[in-house]
Amino acid sequence: MPVFYDSHCHIMNLSHPNLMALLKRVFMDSVPRRLIWLFEHLGAIPLFLKILIWFLLFLPLLVVLLLVVPFVLFMLLLLLIPPAKASLVEKLKEKAAKITNLLAVMETEIGDCLIQLEEELRKQYETKGGLVLYGGSGEEVCDRIVMTPLVMDFGLKNYRNSKSPYKVRWKPVVSQVEDLCLGFRNYYLYRSAYIKSAEGPLPPLFEFHPFLGLNTVNYQLQSSPAREGHSSFLEDLLEKNFSGFECDTSPEMRRINLSKRDWSTFDGNIESIGPYDFAGIKVYPPLGFNPWPEEGDGYPDSSEMEREREKVLYLYDFCIGHNIPLTTHCNDGGFLVNNSYREFSSPEKWAKVLEQKVEYRALRLNLAHFGGAEREDWREMIAGLLLKYDNVYTDISYQGVDRKIYGRLKLLLDSYGADRDRLLKKIVFGSDFMINLQDIASYGKYLQYFAETDAFTLEEKGLLCHENAMRYLFLM
Ligand SMILES: [Zn+2]
Repeated sequence: MPVFYDSHCHIMNLSHPNLMALLKRVFMDSVPRRLIWLFEHLGAIPLFLKILIWFLLFLPLLVVLLLVVPFVLFMLLLLLIPPAKASLVEKLKEKAAKITNLLAVMETEIGDCLIQLEEELRKQYETKGGLVLYGGSGEEVCDRIVMTPLVMDFGLKNYRNSKSPYKVRWKPVVSQVEDLCLGFRNYYLYRSAYIKSAEGPLPPLFEFHPFLGLNTVNYQLQSSPAREGHSSFLEDLLEKNFSGFECDTSPEMRRINLSKRDWSTFDGNIESIGPYDFAGIKVYPPLGFNPWPEEGDGYPDSSEMEREREKVLYLYDFCIGHNIPLTTHCNDGGFLVNNSYREFSSPEKWAKVLEQKVEYRALRLNLAHFGGAEREDWREMIAGLLLKYDNVYTDISYQGVDRKIYGRLKLLLDSYGADRDRLLKKIVFGSDFMINLQDIASYGKYLQYFAETDAFTLEEKGLLCHENAMRYLFLM
């Protein structure tokens, strides 16, 4: 098992996320918007109702104040006790250091970010020549790490609701792809200036096969009526990036075709990006991608709902016809830009997709994050789908920021008794780097927690970071 797969990570810079969309949800879709509505309509309401509203409005505030004031006083009191003060200050410093670290990694050029990751890992495993996995009394050295950075389609079509003079009107995914591919190129071109050994130059530790971020909401089918602004067609996007995949009749063919891409020769021209530059597709429901548009999902009318449904059907048929792995965010957190999108992430939506027709059993799907640590119901549902459908997988990205997660995962798997081994073959390792830096100091540390946990044997670790990943990616 010389190749380690990190099947869920993100490599982006500060210009890529749609920060306006997030700000809008935090400040406008929540309390302030409701308050504004209330103040606007207050004049028309009878006096006794007004008094009642004010009372109800301030009741929670009063309760919060009663809880917060003693808490603040308690914290201030703690600050008077030197050991407690030191630990509190330490915690604040730690959080600030993590945020600074995340900002630094998002601000530096992507190639430099990747070089720094390799420098860190080379230092960590100095004499071993790669990442070392431990298990029982044995160990295994992985001298190559395959990363599949997931591009996210941050474009949103709801800008019309914005009252600002200037709006985020288009946030094309192509500029993100351009930055990412230039980053790959720069990693290969400049790494030797930083990474050296006494024996001479070292071969690159990383290999990259990105996933294309796609939100069908931002595209239209050629058959649909034209809409305002310029149109991007779903058919063109998929054809441009994945034509040729349908001829890969075996995983070996896919592996050979993907390995032909030499990123060091990328000329910076987005037009030269095409088949085999991406290994799969990433969809992200918190940004509005709806896996199964249906009544009650907030569409203005049924024809709009039908149009969205047609697009996702096209996408699934295309993915199946071309054997494209499709990763979807599947926990109820994330970069949520509208509260009504929260349920789009639910595995229940995917259960509806998979049961549409027997052909959909061939959909190569990764329900990422295993539902998240807080949603046991989602996790259970995902486990059911993993057991029911051969081509459905899940990943454990982000959760490994806490080294105890692996012990808990082992307990969960053990509780499935006879199905344990079948489930274990459907779980894929992922880091969720660089998002995970909110809760962990570095990429090396995240990998180290996995490499060193005694919750899994060396063979079981090999399933998660090698075999299962390769099967999901149609490389084995
Ligand atoms: Zn992620």
